[in-house]
Amino acid sequence: MSELKEIINQTSFTKSDIVTMLSAKSENQKLLFAKSKEVKEREVGKKVYYRGLVEFSNICSKDCYYCGIRKGNTNVSRFNLTDEQIIQAAEFAYKSSYGSFVMQSGEIQSPAFTLRIENLLREIKKRTNDELGITISLGEQTEETYQRWFDAGAHRYLLRIESSNRELYQKLHPNDSDHDFQKRLDCLYTLKKIGYQTGTGVMIALPFQTLEHLAEDILFMKEFDVDMVGMGPYIEHADTPLYEYRHLLMPLRERFELALRMVATLRIVMRDINIAAATALQAIDPIGREKAVKVGANIIMPNITPGMYRNSYKLYENKPCVDEEPIDCVQCLDVRIQLADATIGYGEWGDSRHFERRNNKSDSL
Ligand code: SAH
Ligand code: SF4
Repeated sequence: MSELKEIINQTSFTKSDIVTMLSAKSENQKLLFAKSKEVKEREVGKKVYYRGLVEFSNICSKDCYYCGIRKGNTNVSRFNLTDEQIIQAAEFAYKSSYGSFVMQSGEIQSPAFTLRIENLLREIKKRTNDELGITISLGEQTEETYQRWFDAGAHRYLLRIESSNRELYQKLHPNDSDHDFQKRLDCLYTLKKIGYQTGTGVMIALPFQTLEHLAEDILFMKEFDVDMVGMGPYIEHADTPLYEYRHLLMPLRERFELALRMVATLRIVMRDINIAAATALQAIDPIGREKAVKVGANIIMPNITPGMYRNSYKLYENKPCVDEEPIDCVQCLDVRIQLADATIGYGEWGDSRHFERRNNKSDSL
């Protein structure tokens, strides 16, 4: 088996190479992080792009075993922002020169929901002079729905595969047609076919998950030729079925370190994609996202959901910044990014270089 210092200089990687990178400790981990930083700065530069994130509703029709806002959790008070509140959040992102805006919620499949989002997308485009990039993350939908939202102005979509291993996926979800692995995979291919910049991701350090699973996830992302990735540590939530298996979990600090190694390894393997520093990193370490920026991430999604609703969008425990208002985040983040030896791409869409190269586009800034 090759040594880590040889592996990180390769241009193609086997599953076993990736497992070696993910297992790197102490001096080897430093080598891995130095390499991923070098690759990031060479391939995508030092800029970090902001995506103002509004988590506009925690109403969800699904029952994923890991998630705090799953339908079966009756301890959550459900909320749904008004259209005007969502549009105001988009205007806030625009005025703050965030360049891009992300709308995320629980999963609802209905004609009324499709129409609501379609109208919102058109209105946001209009009120922000067609200048604000829009990413959506609204779960599994039909091809027709994805197409309508694309035509209305969304150009990026985030749909995590959660785990690319079918058996592990099944352990994390109810065994029914609403939580079907193949369906999720098909959705990702449909999104790509329509022309979205397609983002996926996984949770890291889940119960039952091995380093081999995570290596397969990285190979899956490479094979799918994904444009963007958002991935972060799994954090248990007491009101979910998976909580029962918490004795199988690594300590939080180890989960965090493994998540950083996943970011670094993915940067080395995929080079020019956009990688988001997940908010879940910050639930473990107060400067977790900045640490991810140092080792390869180039996207941060500041939460711009109005403060009073943040406490109810708790996918996991210890979610950070639930007491703050959007304006507090702007100032806080600016300082943090400078500490991470990066600059902020204000007012730019910050499309993934990978997507631009893939489509040979020059007009996407
Ligand atoms: N309903 C949409 C979007 C909201 S959930 C969807 O499921 O795609 C967004 C992401 O939160 C999920 O993809 C999942 O990876 C993450 N998530 C949910 N519960 C989590 C937990 N307990 N720890 C860490 N991440 C979690
Ligand atoms: Fe709903 Fe998404 Fe949570 Fe699953 S992960 S329960 S789809 S919000």
